[in-house]
Amino acid sequence: MKILLLGSGGREHALALKLKTSAQAVDLISAPGSDALAELGACVKLDLEDPAAVAAWCASNRPDLVVAGPELPLVAGVGDAVRALGIPVFGHNEATARLEGSKAFAKAFMQRHGIPCAASHTVAALAEGEALIREWPYGYPIVLKADGLAAGKGVVLAAHETEALETFRAFMAGQFGEASRTVVFEAPLVGMELSLHVLVDVDADHAAYAMLPACQDHKRIFEGDLGPNTGGMGAFGPIPYLRPEDVERMRTELVEPTVRGLQEDGLAARGVLFLGVMWTAAGPELLEYNVRFGDPETQVLMQLLDEDLASLLLEVAEGRLVARNLRLKPHTAIAVVLAAEDYPEGAKKGVSIAIGSPGVTLIHAGTKKQDGQWVTNGGRVMNLATSAPDLAAARAAIEASLSEVQWPGMQVRRDIGLKALRHALA
Ligand code: ATP
Repeated sequence: MKILLLGSGGREHALALKLKTSAQAVDLISAPGSDALAELGACVKLDLEDPAAVAAWCASNRPDLVVAGPELPLVAGVGDAVRALGIPVFGHNEATARLEGSKAFAKAFMQRHGIPCAASHTVAALAEGEALIREWPYGYPIVLKADGLAAGKGVVLAAHETEALETFRAFMAGQFGEASRTVVFEAPLVGMELSLHVLVDVDADHAAYAMLPACQDHKRIFEGDLGPNTGGMGAFGPIPYLRPEDVERMRTELVEPTVRGLQEDGLAARGVLFLGVMWTAAGPELLEYNVRFGDPETQVLMQLLDEDLASLLLEVAEGRLVARNLRLKPHTAIAVVLAAEDYPEGAKKGVSIAIGSPGVTLIHAGTKKQDGQWVTNGGRVMNLATSAPDLAAARAAIEASLSEVQWPGMQVRRDIGLKALRHALA
């Protein structure tokens, strides 16, 4: 099977490694890919935000399947352009990708379909927003969200009125261009955050979904959840204290209304939805939709999934998904990010990486090969991932592998999953 994989990071490397374990021979081509992905197949330079360019390549090379890693190509309409050629795409069309591309659109969708989420107001005028802040009825912090994509920087939890006003005015002045000229204000939710991935296959006369195990990401750079936010420093799943009845609540309260809502609104969906969930005292509430796999959650999920990934993604892309419980290893998986010295402020490049025999899966996220030697080439450089019968054993396996991958200044959190060993759901 000839597969075009869009993307170049750790998520894509994890997907690629899994695709290559397929029972059928997989001819993998990555765009733009990376030196690590080049070891698994060819790489082609394509502008992923240019639907016509991706479609032109597909028209002459006729892949059997296109798999989209990041959200940008989907929001730009790459899914539509390639699907128009009759080529199956694992990835949503432009209309459905708005669930991630516009927070105002996503909130209206949640409210229209009765999905529990924070109370909110969408504002596109300065005076209206300033008045809202002065009369804010939901308590602090005020959550301000730029409507459009802002590279993970468009959400601010303002601790007091002055900060809220400053943030709002900066958004409206175009801090993130057009993306922040509409602002979603949200009431603060308190609880435990988790990531729920669901494969969805919805059109006018078919609606099927398959849930993956809930994972937990660790967003802060330092151990103990301290320091600035990052793209994610490590994740594990499933969450040991999430009981079957808790997962069932997420299915009936979040997933099923989402799938029904897509169908009711005429939004076709062929890909993954990643639901950012806050488990509050009242139960699960939806924070956001992403229209692609999470990073580093994908690295965890690929350790757990006991299915032929190429067949599974093709089943979704061709609109043949049969609702079912996916086959999973009876394990807990963990992925730990190895980050560059100055991450998240910067991404010190060109530092030589010493790689021994980690004994766990080594995933490349931001690396490059220079004269035969792997060097750092991004903020999040590599991941170590594995699974074991329980979280403690998975953590121990990662710990034992850490001395096998090293470079000067490497940052790693050694507490991924540690809190979960001790905590229960409130
Ligand atoms: P990312 O892509 O990094 O997940 P994002 O920019 O798409 O982020 P959200 O996921 O909606 O935005 O929000 C980012 C973070 O802000 C969440 O992970 C959560 O920690 C916090 N957050 C969002 N909404 C709320 C809320 N209503 N109450 C409390 N915290 C919130």
